[in-house]
Amino acid sequence: MCLYQAFKGAANEFLLANSVLKQKKQTEGNDMAAIKIDGKATAKQIREELKLRVQALRDKGIEPCLAVMLVGEDPASQIYVRNKRRACEDVGIRPVQVFLPADATQQQVVDEVRKLNQDESIHGILVQLPLPRHIDAVQVLDEISPEKDADGFHVINAGKLFSGRPSTLPCTPAGCIELLKRYNVPMSGKNAVVLGRSNIVGKPMAMLLMNENATVTVCHSKTADISAFTRQADIVVSAIGRAGFLTGDMLKPGCAVIDVGINRLEDGRVVGDAEYASCESVAGWITPVPGGVGPMTIAILMRNAVLAAERT
Ligand code: NAP
Repeated sequence: MCLYQAFKGAANEFLLANSVLKQKKQTEGNDMAAIKIDGKATAKQIREELKLRVQALRDKGIEPCLAVMLVGEDPASQIYVRNKRRACEDVGIRPVQVFLPADATQQQVVDEVRKLNQDESIHGILVQLPLPRHIDAVQVLDEISPEKDADGFHVINAGKLFSGRPSTLPCTPAGCIELLKRYNVPMSGKNAVVLGRSNIVGKPMAMLLMNENATVTVCHSKTADISAFTRQADIVVSAIGRAGFLTGDMLKPGCAVIDVGINRLEDGRVVGDAEYASCESVAGWITPVPGGVGPMTIAILMRNAVLAAERT
């Protein structure tokens, strides 16, 4: 039995166990805690699958390569860039790092992106956000060749997603869909509510859920009575960046909660948008923070880089 088949077998067993647990929850009522969607384990599973695809590319003489550009010395961005390099190394993608000083000019940043576009050995490019304030981030992102746009933020890829054409998907929303699929959460014909309407999470998340045939409502800071929407929702994806905003009394019993939010509390703890304890006792599935959506974002970034290499 090849490694891939063994892997698929283990994944199927996991899904079966998951669905049995879910049925138990539905028949025994809501006194059971929600199924915790383990983003860390799922991301690891995706990385293992990618290793096989990277090997297949290497066998054909193609070395997948992801370039990550960092402008300035923002400590959080440095950690994100380091984690991306480590993920590349784990999967077998060649990482290329481009560091520019915080006072780099718009033209210098654009020139570096153009160099990466022209380098045929580089398949994916990511510019770490946020960029220093004097840099026009939109112009920089627009400079990235859409074929090499590993983050899926380029306006061409956004346009393709919104018009239902194949495109490079933004990593975080695509990671959320992957979690829902791998945990067998039904989406077709279900009510989904997305909290947040940003270009990088909320809007593409709504499109991807719609592509899965969910009926989607998007809520934002001007929405009146958000809980009236979330109480009808079979799936709630929260991406607003407000610690503890989503509480158990706002949920429909048995729903799936995908918590995208990353909020650092004064005591240093990192929490999501959902108040975990109250949501867990009502929901059918829930992602923890940390260990939920976060690891999936990097796994899908790796997948985007591998896909870009496979297209060459
Ligand atoms: P963003 O650009 O700041 O957008 C936040 C959205 O939430 C906006 O649409 C805003 O509404 C809405 N919002 C803010 N407060 C609200 C409230 N009280 N009620 C209802 N809606 C509210 O943020 P983002 O980049 O989408 O990120 C959202 C969260 O996800 C952040 O915590 C971020 O750190 C996290 N994140 C996590 C990952 C990951 O890998 N896990 C990746 C990306 C982002 P308006 O449009 O009306 O202002």
